[in-house]
Amino acid sequence: MPFTTLGLSDPLLRAIADAGYTTPSPIQAQAIPAVLNGHDVLAAAQTGTGKTAGFTLPILHRLSQKSYDKNRPVRVLILTPTRELAAQIGESVSKYGAHLHPRLKSEVVFGGVKINPQMMRLRGGVDILVATPGRLLDLVSQNAVKLDQVETLILDEADRMLDMGFIRDIRKIIAVLPKKRQNLLFSATFSEDIRKLTTGLLVNPIKIEVAPRNTAAELVEQLVYLTNKTDKTALLCHLIKTNDWQQVLVFTTTKHGANRLTEKLNTANIKAAAIHGNKSQGARTSALAGFKAGEIRVLVATDVAARGIDIALLPHVINFELPKVSEDYVHRIGRTGRAGEEGQAISLVSHDEVNALRQVEKLIGKSIPREQIAGFEASAIAPPMPPEPPRGPRPQRNNQPSRRSPQQR
Ligand code: AMP
Repeated sequence: MPFTTLGLSDPLLRAIADAGYTTPSPIQAQAIPAVLNGHDVLAAAQTGTGKTAGFTLPILHRLSQKSYDKNRPVRVLILTPTRELAAQIGESVSKYGAHLHPRLKSEVVFGGVKINPQMMRLRGGVDILVATPGRLLDLVSQNAVKLDQVETLILDEADRMLDMGFIRDIRKIIAVLPKKRQNLLFSATFSEDIRKLTTGLLVNPIKIEVAPRNTAAELVEQLVYLTNKTDKTALLCHLIKTNDWQQVLVFTTTKHGANRLTEKLNTANIKAAAIHGNKSQGARTSALAGFKAGEIRVLVATDVAARGIDIALLPHVINFELPKVSEDYVHRIGRTGRAGEEGQAISLVSHDEVNALRQVEKLIGKSIPREQIAGFEASAIAPPMPPEPPRGPRPQRNNQPSRRSPQQR
């Protein structure tokens, strides 16, 4: 189904073409017509499904169809948990609205930075405001922004906002909005708290559920390169250079490991930056921006740091070391595979990680093909590692009789 059938105006279709999208993702195919028709929407969707365009495009369409109030009151309010997500949504609003005439005004506000410049920017009025809840409340209480003309409220990543303790702020914000409005709620998970929030907020919502972002079993091609610990850096450089990878996310287990690897990559003329808990917010933001802009080819991240930031999906994710906790493997490889396209997750595995590899395979329920690259093969100090078939749940350790059939006994 092409985008042209969804009812979006020409300037938006041009922006979609500029972005290089040819077909709507499943969430877009469902959300765009629902939002255009003014429905409330409850969507179970994670980052990577194309949900941002799924709500931004129809909202821009609706706003641009109506006449402008010269005071530019906020008509669309988008709440989101983190500054990175807020900035990303702000960029999407600008990108998709680039061909609209007159242009819609949008602003992004979040905490952790000075409030005064934000107050100044809001003075002339904005049509679309993207905000983190705490900072928005501060701005409201200082009369820097009024929310009494909001026509559409969007809660993006609602589960993360609740996890981050924003529920009271969200409720306070909702209390100052007009009663009659359109509400859209996006959440990856549906806990009891989210359910409570949605009841009373959404009126006869259209419910949309799309497959979670690439699960280990689908879309992501997984591969293990067996090698020696001491050869991993050289192997990584070799892979990046011979495959001409331009955007690679590499996971290490420690902050020190991330720093060391970043230095070595830079020495090998592969532009790299590290993000981890010891880096300042500024350093992380600039590393991420450089990575997105293509100035930094390799982003080296620890698990915790990677979870806190929103990185668009990438073609290649490398596990320089396997994670200590197998579940992190699934989070890591979920970073690859763009909306509907295949991604590749490669793990560099040395002898000491064989057990970790088996744990991962047990968790994902399948074995990962093992390969070796000429010149970087695992040396034969340990026996060559055969593929490990997935095992079922562990037998219970009690004195119950064995479940094997009589023939097997
Ligand atoms: P999101 O889930 O909104 O964070 O989007 C994930 C990624 O998919 C972003 O990098 C978008 O630019 C990209 N994307 C969104 N919609 C489409 C589409 N219809 N076709 C291809 N890529 C898309």
